[in-house]
Amino acid sequence: MNEPFYTSDWHIHSVASYDAHLHVADLVSQAEKQGLTDYGLTDHVNVPSWIHFLRASRELVRQYARPGFHFGVELTTISGYLERYDREHGTKEGYEKPDLPGPEPVAFPLTAEELDECGVEYVIGAAHWVLDAPRTQDVVVADMHRQNLYCACSPLVDVVGHPYCFFGTYEDRNGRQTPFDDFSIIPQSMHEELWAAIRENGKAMEANIDFFCGNHPEAFRRAYADFVRGAFEAGVPITIGTDCHGPQYNDRNDVCREYLGAVGFRAGDFSIPRFRKPRTV
Ligand SMILES: [Zn+2]
Ligand SMILES: [Zn+2]
Repeated sequence: MNEPFYTSDWHIHSVASYDAHLHVADLVSQAEKQGLTDYGLTDHVNVPSWIHFLRASRELVRQYARPGFHFGVELTTISGYLERYDREHGTKEGYEKPDLPGPEPVAFPLTAEELDECGVEYVIGAAHWVLDAPRTQDVVVADMHRQNLYCACSPLVDVVGHPYCFFGTYEDRNGRQTPFDDFSIIPQSMHEELWAAIRENGKAMEANIDFFCGNHPEAFRRAYADFVRGAFEAGVPITIGTDCHGPQYNDRNDVCREYLGAVGFRAGDFSIPRFRKPRTV
């Protein structure tokens, strides 16, 4: 067996996530076999009323407590209108996007007080949805950048998760609906602004292994690896995140070596998040 290319994984979803199927008993035994020394659960909290998922996640981390196993969370950016509605109603059911001009304000679903109350050691802040309209190329790129910067600058966040995660299609400059399979639509100036914001705010950026798999074309994967390498060379600490949703916890060393190794990363180049407890003092 080759030496592991990475020995820590900071982005893992358990059965305490609404969309994941990984049992923590399987995670901890597989992590040990694979030679992980540090890793953390980061179950999803998408709206304030989902804090019960975080409490369930905390119980799992406590139940399987061992050295190197950490308690994180993945907070998504959401519309500030949705955040306010969910807090007022205790649910997102019945929410309708208000008919107001301009992009929706960006918010996180939890506060520093709530993160402390749950004992969260580190926060992945990550965008998942476009909050501006229409879904044309320029609007989509600008909105992804806006939300990435929000994550990079938020005092809640320790790791900016999967920059430029995108679902669905957008209208390209020729009026065609297209999936996000050409990474070069993001200007280099945006990369540099994002890297500077992450670095200056003392955070890390995630190399999300999902970007090197699935339906992404080869050129996209290579461009994404160059983007991660650019961040590293600009002084941004890089954390590994497999973003596993189960049911098995898989060894991704080969794919990491193939894409991140090809742009110059070596085992030992990857960082661990800041562990901050408490956030409120
Ligand atoms: Zn995510
Ligand atoms: Zn995730």
